[in-house]
Amino acid sequence: MSKCLTLSFIKPTEIPIIIFMRLLSIFTFVFIANLSFSQIIDTLHTNEGTMLIYGNRTWEYLEDRDFDGVMNDHLHFLMENDTNMNYIQGWNHDVCYTSELKNDVNKIKDTIWLCVQDSDSLGDGFVMPFDGRVTSRFGWRKGRNHNGTDIDLNTGDTVRAAWSGKIRYSKYNSSGFGNLVIIRHHNGLETFYAHLSKLIVVPDQIVQAGDPIGLGGNTGHSYGSHLHFEVRFYDIPMNPEKIIDFKAGKIRDENLLVHRGIFRPGSSVRSSGSNVASGDRRYHRVRSGDTLGAIARRNRTSVSRLCQLNGIRPTTVLQIGRNLRVR
Ligand SMILES: [Zn+2]
Repeated sequence: MSKCLTLSFIKPTEIPIIIFMRLLSIFTFVFIANLSFSQIIDTLHTNEGTMLIYGNRTWEYLEDRDFDGVMNDHLHFLMENDTNMNYIQGWNHDVCYTSELKNDVNKIKDTIWLCVQDSDSLGDGFVMPFDGRVTSRFGWRKGRNHNGTDIDLNTGDTVRAAWSGKIRYSKYNSSGFGNLVIIRHHNGLETFYAHLSKLIVVPDQIVQAGDPIGLGGNTGHSYGSHLHFEVRFYDIPMNPEKIIDFKAGKIRDENLLVHRGIFRPGSSVRSSGSNVASGDRRYHRVRSGDTLGAIARRNRTSVSRLCQLNGIRPTTVLQIGRNLRVR
C-alpha cells in the first residue's frame, strides 16, 4: 500500500534521479564487494600487539607498518657500529639473501654473543624443526659446500619454526630449494626450511617456536623427501649441528659465540675469540610485557644497575627481542 502511495508521488522529472540513485547503489555494492578482499574485517589483541585481519585472509601487526627488518636491536647496534663490517640486512620477501651474499665473515673483528635458548624458559625457546634422522651434514659435498643439515622425513610431515620470529620468505624457489620458508628470529639468526610440499605461512607473519610453517616434501633439487635446514647469520651459513644436538633434539648451549671461525666447515662454535662475553655475565631477552623493574627483580639486581650495564635510561622503551645484560 505504502509502495503505491510513494510511486504515485513521483513526478516525471524525478525518474532520472531515481535511476541515478539505483546505479549509484549498484556501483557502491560492487565497490564494497571488491574492497572486502583487502579490507580489515577484524582486529585481534595479542601479546605481540594489535593484529589486523584482512578479507583475503592475510593479516599484519598494526605496530609493524614501518618494520625495517631488524629483529634484534642489540645485535643490529653492534653490527652497525662496527664500521669494518658494513653489514647489509634488509627485509625482502622475494630474495633468499638480502645482502646478495655480500656480507664478508672475514670482517667480523670481535666475537658476538647471541642467546639461542632463553634461560627463563617461558615457552619460547627452541623447538626441533622436525624430529628425524640426520641424513646429510653441513660441509663439503661433491665439490661444493652443503649449507645446511638434511633431516629425513615423509612428505606431509609437519615442519616447525625452530625459534620465534617473523616469516621473511615463503614461496617456491627455482634455484634448488623448492618450496622454501625463511624465518628471521629475535635471536639474530635466520633459518631456512627447504623442499617443502606445502607452505602454510605468509611473509610478515609472526611465529612462535614450534609453530607449523609447512609440510615436508621433495620439491626443488631433492632426491627423496627430506628437510634441508639452514641456519644463517647475516646471510652466512653456519653448521646447524654446532648449535643443535639433532640426536637429543636440544640446543647444545644457550650461548652462541659468533666469530669468523664458526663459519668454516668443521670449526668449533665454542672456540673463543676476543672480547667474549665470559664468566658471570648474564643476559635477558626482552619479551612482551617486560619492564626494567620486573627484569631487575627477577635477576636480583636494580634498575640503575641495568641502566649502567646497558647504557640505557630508566625511561628507555624496551624493544621486544633486545638482549639486556643483567649481570
Ligand atoms: Zn640439504
